[in-house]
Amino acid sequence: MEIKDKVVVITGGAGGLGLAMAQEFASQGARLALIDVDQEKLERACADLGATTEVQGYALDITDEEDVVAGFNYILEDFGQVNVLVNNAGILRDGMMIKAKEGLVTDRMSFEQFQSVINVNLTGTFLCGREAAAAMIHSKQAGVIINISSIAKAGNIGQSNYSASKAGVAAMSVGWSKELARYNIRSAAVAPGVIATEMTAGMKPEALERLEKMVPVGRLGQAQEVAATVKFIVENDYVNGRVFEIDGGLSM
Ligand code: NAD
Repeated sequence: MEIKDKVVVITGGAGGLGLAMAQEFASQGARLALIDVDQEKLERACADLGATTEVQGYALDITDEEDVVAGFNYILEDFGQVNVLVNNAGILRDGMMIKAKEGLVTDRMSFEQFQSVINVNLTGTFLCGREAAAAMIHSKQAGVIINISSIAKAGNIGQSNYSASKAGVAAMSVGWSKELARYNIRSAAVAPGVIATEMTAGMKPEALERLEKMVPVGRLGQAQEVAATVKFIVENDYVNGRVFEIDGGLSM
């Protein structure tokens, strides 16, 4: 799909990887609809991007079904069509499922800690994907849905919630690639490794340093490197149902 003049919706578009994607699409002449729960950050991002392209912000929580349905209705009203969705919004709330000392259980991951990550990363991706597919069908044009998974989908210590959500996101992308092809909608996922953003800046420096040493190319990834992969998927009409690991070789 040629990107110029297409309407690209990016969730979590106000910062980190989402903002890098927005900048990449803006440089290709896309029209942008950015969804984010952080209104202030969203306004700043829209003001910056507005210098180069048409952009609208939609401040909403992707875990709220009514908000998501209304948000996509507004996007259709404002832009007249939806061509691309990048389901990028995500959160981390790491913790061990259980901790014990000398045979006594000292801590558990709370239900809320588990559920909040599943709600944003998995349920939010489902809700936005469903509404975007409806909007794409309504637009009577080809569509592409890209979901941002993570190499944590393989399963990580301290990430019961995050790993499960990201494995779910990868599986859902493959399912959608089969289910939506009949409507001329492609779907794929990108599974980044450790990328330098606010999300990773929140990690313990020792843990980050340890991870960096494990990456075969010897460094963290850059947001632009993930954005370039997302752009490649949109532009190549024969890409469908794949999960692209962009991780400097970390998950090999
Ligand atoms: P980030 O925290 O910098 O940005 C995430 C954005 O999502 C924020 O702007 C936040 O406000 C928004 N958001 C959070 N909850 C939301 C909600 N309920 N509704 C709407 N918006 C919401 O994170 P990032 O590092 O840019 O990560 C982007 C995506 O990439 C996430 O899905 C993350 O899991 C994934 N990922 C990141 C890395 C990494 O190393 N940074 C690695 C693998 C995967």
